[in-house]
Amino acid sequence: MILLPILILCGLIALYFLFINKKKSAGLPVELRDTYHLMLNEHISYYQSLNETEKIRFQGMVNDFLRDVRIEGVGTAVTELDKLFIASSAIIPVFGFGNWKYQNLTDVILYPDTFDKDYQFEGGDRNIMGMVGSGYMNGKMLLSRSALTKGFSNDAGNENAAIHEFVHLLDKADGATDGIPASFFTHEYAIPWLQLMHQEMLRIAAGDSDINPYALTNEAEFLAVAAEYFFEQPLAFKNKHPELYIQLSSIFKQNPGQA
Ligand SMILES: [Zn+2]
Repeated sequence: MILLPILILCGLIALYFLFINKKKSAGLPVELRDTYHLMLNEHISYYQSLNETEKIRFQGMVNDFLRDVRIEGVGTAVTELDKLFIASSAIIPVFGFGNWKYQNLTDVILYPDTFDKDYQFEGGDRNIMGMVGSGYMNGKMLLSRSALTKGFSNDAGNENAAIHEFVHLLDKADGATDGIPASFFTHEYAIPWLQLMHQEMLRIAAGDSDINPYALTNEAEFLAVAAEYFFEQPLAFKNKHPELYIQLSSIFKQNPGQA
């Protein structure tokens, strides 16, 4: 007689797992998938270059990001397109890592324009396009809406301020924002990567490189600036900086410049 309750229990457990699996494999609702697809396909060139399976995975990661991270505007309304731009900037650098989740991010705060170190976005000398918060701002990222939008426009060039900030966040995942994202590559890569960075920094300083001289600030800025170029213009980056391309490809575990 004891067999019957056990059988019923096993049946219930099986049903539970069947239900969970079904929920997982159903993914995004079709309407949302269509909306995301249309907007991403129109505005995000990185997304356009993905195959169908990758596009669906990208949509899912965008959806998860928007579920997990709060996005709020200060002095500006946040549109659906802003949200997709922010989520895409977050997903592009981690798309090679499988189901990566940003552990050190709870909020993205969108300012209408560039801001200063006191977070003022009107008047004065404002040149900050984005920032990963520290201290009491830990877990928060600040972004300028104008810079965010420009990064996904046709005149973005090699630059994308939001991708830049998410790369800082990845760099910070090992506890140090130092241009060596130790969580993402094995130890023996660190020295050649540092050497390569320093060689290119000399070229930038001599005016012999098309990498934004802001990369000279320090190794962390070099990584973020080079990553913007790597994701924005992968073919040009691969042609002009083949060694850096190989290193970034190995750090980010993707090959956006493949023919
Ligand atoms: Zn930076």
